[in-house]
Amino acid sequence: MSIAPSALPEPSAHPVDPLTGTLGGATGSYEKRLEDLAGVYADAGAFDAACAAQPGRIVYRVEDVRPAAAAGDLIFGTTHMEPGRIGREFFVTRGHIHARANRPETYYGEAGRGVMLLESPEGQTRILEIAPKVIVYVPPLWIHRSVNVGDTALVMSFCYPSDSGQDYDVIGRSGGMAVRIVASDDAGGPGWKSVTNESYRPRNTDEIAAIYATQD
Ligand code: ZN
Repeated sequence: MSIAPSALPEPSAHPVDPLTGTLGGATGSYEKRLEDLAGVYADAGAFDAACAAQPGRIVYRVEDVRPAAAAGDLIFGTTHMEPGRIGREFFVTRGHIHARANRPETYYGEAGRGVMLLESPEGQTRILEIAPKVIVYVPPLWIHRSVNVGDTALVMSFCYPSDSGQDYDVIGRSGGMAVRIVASDDAGGPGWKSVTNESYRPRNTDEIAAIYATQD
């Protein structure tokens, strides 16, 4: 990104409310409702029942600041995710890989207890816990999804390169991510565990190559 002296960007400061995720000076926002997450959860019956019981229930809300779309700038914001489960499975974000897959991201825990579920193009899984004052680094080329494993709102702030873009279908094309995060009653445990997603279809060599080919 080359900037002329006449277009020098103005610095800005943006207070974050750690409990609500409200971001001062946000220039955009969106919400995802339960109905928007059809097909994400293993228990379709429980999903349908939850949608019927609370139509329009908001699962998460994102607020962000996008100073410029050009390469070389940043997008930053907050995500506020309600606690909840569909059957044994915790509420999750839709998840994505960056459309330019070699763009990274950071997440910083503001409130609540969560898990960042990551998956490589080849199907390796990483599971990282996030809590207040923890930064999770999502390296280039990793699919990522947030999971609220607590019983209060999970609030995080995030930052990624402005030309990243998002491919939201990468997960759906494989029948989900390789593992699901479900409630666990194991004594002394964290209250969650990962289980195999029986619907998962590993990416073939062409699909893997297509992800790597998005780099520039
Ligand atoms: Zn991302």
